[in-house]
Formats: sequence, C-alpha cells, structure tokens
Amino acid sequence: MIPSVLPTYNRAPLHFVKGEGCWLIEEDGRRFLDLGSGIAVNALGHAAPELVQVLTEQAQKLWHVSNLYEIPGQQALADALVDRTFADTVFFTNSGTEACELAVKMARKYWHDKGKPEKVEILTFEGCFHGRSSAAIAASGAPKMVAGFGPVLPGFVHLPWEDHEALTAAVTDRTAAILIEPIQGEGGIRVLPDESLKNLRALCDEKGVLLILDEVQCGVGRTGKLFAHEWAGVTPDIMMSAKGIGGGFPLGAVLATEEAASGMVAGTHGSTYGGNPLGCALGLAVIERIGNDEFLDAVRQRAGFLRQKLEGLVAAHPEVFEGVRGTGLMLGLKCRANVAEVVKAGYAAEVITVPAADNVLRLLPPLNITEDEIAEAVARLDRAAASVAT
Ligand SMILES: *Cc1c(COP(=O)(O)O)cnc(C)c1O
Repeated sequence: MIPSVLPTYNRAPLHFVKGEGCWLIEEDGRRFLDLGSGIAVNALGHAAPELVQVLTEQAQKLWHVSNLYEIPGQQALADALVDRTFADTVFFTNSGTEACELAVKMARKYWHDKGKPEKVEILTFEGCFHGRSSAAIAASGAPKMVAGFGPVLPGFVHLPWEDHEALTAAVTDRTAAILIEPIQGEGGIRVLPDESLKNLRALCDEKGVLLILDEVQCGVGRTGKLFAHEWAGVTPDIMMSAKGIGGGFPLGAVLATEEAASGMVAGTHGSTYGGNPLGCALGLAVIERIGNDEFLDAVRQRAGFLRQKLEGLVAAHPEVFEGVRGTGLMLGLKCRANVAEVVKAGYAAEVITVPAADNVLRLLPPLNITEDEIAEAVARLDRAAASVAT
C-alpha cells in the first residue's frame, strides 16, 4: 500500500520535535548538532529568538493579502536587497525552483522584446541543480531527474563543468543566457574559481548573453559574503535566491538589473503567495541581520576555524576522507568511504550532515554557530569516522 506521504524521499528514521540554535532534539530526547540547517535554510539556526519575535508579531497583524495590493513589507525587503546588491529590482517566490522558472522566463522575454526571439537557449553545466519544476529539471538535464517525465522543456544546452573551450563553442546566436551556481551544492560543493566567473562575465558581455547566477544554496551569507559572486568582484544580470533568505520560512527571490528585467511588465508573471507579508517580514529580519560587515566577518572567522578543524579530521581519518572543499560555511568533505555510510554514522554520533553528489559530505551549519559548537560537532564527526573505518 502506498504510504500516506508520497514516497519520493528515502528518509532517515529520525523524528525531530524541537530545534534550538544549532541543535535538533529527537522525540527520544537525543540532542543532535545540526550541520545541515535543513539544507542551508536555517541560516540563523532553529527558532532564532529574533525571528520568532518577528514571526509572531507579524502573524498577529497580517499574513497574506495577494499581490493585487501594494505590500509595504515586500517593498522594504526589496529595498534592502537592492541597497545591498547589484540588483535594481526583485520578484519574490516561495522556493528556489520558482525562482528558476522566473529567471528562465525573464531571460527569454528580454531577448524577445529586443527583437531577437531566436535567442532562447540557456547554457547549463554538468552536476548543476536548479530545482524540480519542469524548467529546472530541463536545466539540469540529468537522466535521474528527467527520465519518465515526458517531453522535456526545450532550449537547454548542457556543458561539462569548467571547460572553457566547450563553453565558448556552445555560445551561438541562439544563446539567451548562461545559468550557473557559483558553488554547486547538490553537485558536491564544487566551487567555480573566481577567475572562471570573471571569464564567464567577460564572455557574456562579449557575446551578448545574460548571466544568471543560482545562489539559492550559496547565497545569503553562506560563503562569508552576502552573495557568493561578490568574491569574484563581478555581478550577474539575474540572480536566484531562496533557502537561507527566509531563515526557515519558505521564501525565494529573483534579483535583476533594470535592463535584464525590462521585459517583465505588468501581467507577464505572478504568484499568489510570493512576497506575502509574513515571509517578507522574516526575509527582512534575515537580510538585516546577515547583510552587514560585522556579521559576515564573523562568518568568515568561524568558517576558518571549522575548516582548520576539518583539515585535522581528514588527516586523522585518511581512509574515510580525502579532503575539504568549499568556501565559508558551505563546506564539503570528499569521502573515500561511502558518503551515505558516513552520514549514517553521523546520526549515531548525533551530528547531522547532508550527502551530495561526487561522494561528498556537505556541512552547512547555521551561520551563527559558535566555536564551541564547531569543536563539539567535529568531535562527533571524529567518532562517526572512527566507526566507519572499523
Ligand atoms: C535547493 C536548490 C534549488 C531549488 O530550491 P527549492 O526551494 O527546493 O525549489 C535550486 N537551486 C539550488 C542551487 C539549490 O540548492
């Protein structure tokens, strides 16, 4: 008999009933250190007091009105993002995959309105992940995501990762945009070097192609900058955000320059829930807390500490781990042992991690994790690794 919850996930038999900062408490009382943050979502930890306060205050005032009306809280969050980023304008969604939908529509509409309707192709890269909607699975092209789902949305060209020649050859008169994650998350914490991102920007400028960055996982302070592309000193035309931006509330966004967004006039896109007062109140609290130098400096410092500890862990367990990769608090341990086994051993040691492709263990702790918590988490990973090795 089919389970009452559609069985599209292989779930771990853990029943968390409460969260406090970096800790998740199981029904049976065990306290797990959470280095997964619900896949980079709980950027300020679980039940962050300042977010609980914003949530409850807003919940008592107004949850939802629809985008038929002006929403002051949505305006405030858009202004906060525009002030702190390359963007001139923002559309709010409820998830990353909806942000992907709009990014694709925006790029195609831009060229359509410029009198170049043949420019529809979007170049993407092996190992990418942009969500599970029809456009997002077409963007990925991975057989495990598209197989069986009927005609795949056309107009995506899939390229190898980090192959500048293949990329240059793929750009044609039909190319609308290049879509890429500055750091692949699901793909195994694969960092696009700053130099490559600069080259991509230059290629896009030279060939008349829009650059879309998917910062759904790597954005909102995760790398120690508000958005990861800031490390390379270049800006996209369109950027997708989600995950951390709501601090645990479902919220996503597409940020764009005025030029790139020029086709998206009244009536061309919409969302019933997107940009609702409740989500935007939380988004604003998250962006104000994270989007300043003091907070981001602290993230970079913690990240350095975690990385150093992880290098020690790898050195202590060379039969389990091969090395550390990533930036800031978006780190991966490339495993020699099977990553699923390491994750499971972590559960036994009461530490939560997330597997990724390429046999990589993902570490995406809350951005405000303390050094004591980092030390404790790595001690638990050490126990987990020891149990895998034997
Ligand atoms: C998670 C993720 C998405 C999809 O976000 P959902 O909220 O699950 O739809 C898209 N892109 C990247 C890079 C992601 O990590």
